[in-house]
Parts: sequence; structure tokens; C-alpha cells
Amino acid sequence: MIVVMRTDATMEQVNHVKELIREMGLKDHPIVGTELTVVAVIGDDRKKDRGRLEGAPGVDRVVPILVPYKIASRETKRERTVVRIGANCAVGGKQIPVIAGPCSVEGEKQIVAAAKACKEAGAHAIRGGAFKPRTNPYAFQGYGEDGLKMLAAARDATGLAVVTEVLTPSDVLIVSKYADCLQIGTRNSQNFKLLEACGDQPKPVLLKRGMSMTLGEMLQASEYILAGGNHNVILCERGIRTFEDHTRNTLSLSAVPELHYRSHLPVMIDPSHGTGHARLVPDMARAAVAAGADGLIVEVHPDPEHAWTDGAQSMTPASLGELIATLKRVALAVDREVV
Ligand code: PEP
Ligand code: MN
Repeated sequence: MIVVMRTDATMEQVNHVKELIREMGLKDHPIVGTELTVVAVIGDDRKKDRGRLEGAPGVDRVVPILVPYKIASRETKRERTVVRIGANCAVGGKQIPVIAGPCSVEGEKQIVAAAKACKEAGAHAIRGGAFKPRTNPYAFQGYGEDGLKMLAAARDATGLAVVTEVLTPSDVLIVSKYADCLQIGTRNSQNFKLLEACGDQPKPVLLKRGMSMTLGEMLQASEYILAGGNHNVILCERGIRTFEDHTRNTLSLSAVPELHYRSHLPVMIDPSHGTGHARLVPDMARAAVAAGADGLIVEVHPDPEHAWTDGAQSMTPASLGELIATLKRVALAVDREVV
């Protein structure tokens, strides 16, 4: 449930409500909006004493929340959340950032060249996997910490913020040290210990949709991170498994307006994993922006034919440049901007 404070409630009254919640053996989660403050009550429903909170000074009303993702829900916060990645990239505002880069970090030269080319093409942040989740145990698993250092070199060379995947709770601190945003991949999106560990560190988190996950389950996964105290979560639709096999996955673009309806968190689209074919990426990227996506994450490789992973779905920097030019026009049509 959430406690909605009166618009004229004082700080002491909010603090008193927080104390009452803690006395009940529950966790308080205040959300300070521009108009009013609400305090979400987190924990065992049986401990919740609605009457005591309703009677507290400064309280306007107490509203039960029916969805199981209380902090992620729009019932708790009407205004859209804007998540900052590094100094120059924000997701969820008027501007729509494009995060671009190779599937894997293949070496310092490769990632620095990719970052420079993506920046030149108009990208706003760089992606690249240092820890790779691979279906086959004999496939390239990523350079690990060395890969993180290569990403840091790419950031130094371009000023672009770095988004990279973390696979296990024990790697969260090291990835958080080098990255500007931690990605949780589709195979790990219900790794609850990993979600908790990402909730307990300061960098923003890009949470991909599990390939067989409902949107409700995705929002509950995001709740693990939010409940840990990290409010900077970006939801990312990257396609789900269906019977269809002309694409690698089925990219569910209706996830964008539906997630916006259910949650205040920003929503990104990954048209690369969503389709598996570079030739399909530009159209799906434009469609995503038209559908209201708050950002895009796309795989771009300086030499896709020789990419170590996901070459078939990787665009060239030149085609990224062409895509961004057309995205600017689509964004304007829906009152957004790609700058
Ligand atoms: C990736 O971004 O390279 C990746 C592995 O993504 P996903 O988890 O969506 O498959
Ligand atoms: Mn990939």
C-alpha cells in the first residue's frame, strides 16, 4: 500500500509516517514528487495496519496497491522517471538516446575504434560485453575485467558513457567500478540474487526482458532492484521466444506503451537481438521510436562480417549514421528529439 501525504505535509509529518511504518516491522520507501510525497509501504501484508497510518497527521489517504510491483508502478509515481547514464546521456526525457557498439569487446583497438565510429555516427553511449553469457561453454566468454578496462579506454577516447553486462552477483562491484550502466541480460533477468546485488550499488541498471517473461514478471524483476534502493532502472524489450523463426526473436513493440501504462520507468528497445538481422534493425528502430520508446540499444561493429559474436545482427557505423538521421525525423513526429 502507499501513504499519500497532503500537499502541505511537513517533513516531520513524513518522517513520523516513516517511523510508524518501521515500527510495524515494514520498510518505508518515500517518493518525493514535484506536487506531493508518497510513502510506499514494503513488506509482509499481514503486518500492515492501515488505520494507524490513515490517522497520522499530514496523511491524505492510504491506498492499497493491487499490483505486486509497488515501487515500479505508476500508481506510486505518476511522473516519468528519467535515468541518467554518465554525464551526457539521459533516458526517459524528451531526448531519445542511442546506445551503440559491438556485441563483445574483442580488444582495445576494436572497442576504441567502434566507440569513435559510433560517436561519429551520432550515438550517445557505447555498449560492449566484457562478460558474455554464451549458450555454448566453448564459445568466447568475454575478456572479463580486462574487457572492462578496454571499455574504460573507449570512454576516455570518446567521452561516451559505457553500458556493459554483468553476469553474476560476485562481479557486480567490479563491473560497477568501470561501467556507467550495468546491463542484466535476458538469460539473467530472473536471477534474483543478481537483481538484488544490482539494487545495492549506485550505477543505473538496464534490465532486459527475459525471453519467456511476461511484462508483469519483468516489472517484478525490476522491483528487486528498486526495493534495494537503486531507483535508476531502465526496462528493455529485446524480443521474446515464439514459434516464429524468420527473426531470431519476436520483438514485442506493444511492450513500450503497455510498460509506460503500468510503470514510470523508462523503456528501451533492442532491435538487434529483437530481430537477429542487421537489415531489419533500422525499420524496427524507427517503429520503436514511433511507439514511444525512450531509447535504443543497437549492435554496431566496424566490420560485422568478422565480428566474434552476433555479426549477423550488427550494423556498420555508416548504416547507424543513416539510421540516426531518419530517427530524428520520426522523433519529431512524436514530440521527441534525437540530438
Ligand atoms: C547482448 O546485449 O549482447 C546480449 C547478450 O543481450 P540479451 O541478453 O538481450 O540476449
Ligand atoms: Mn549480442
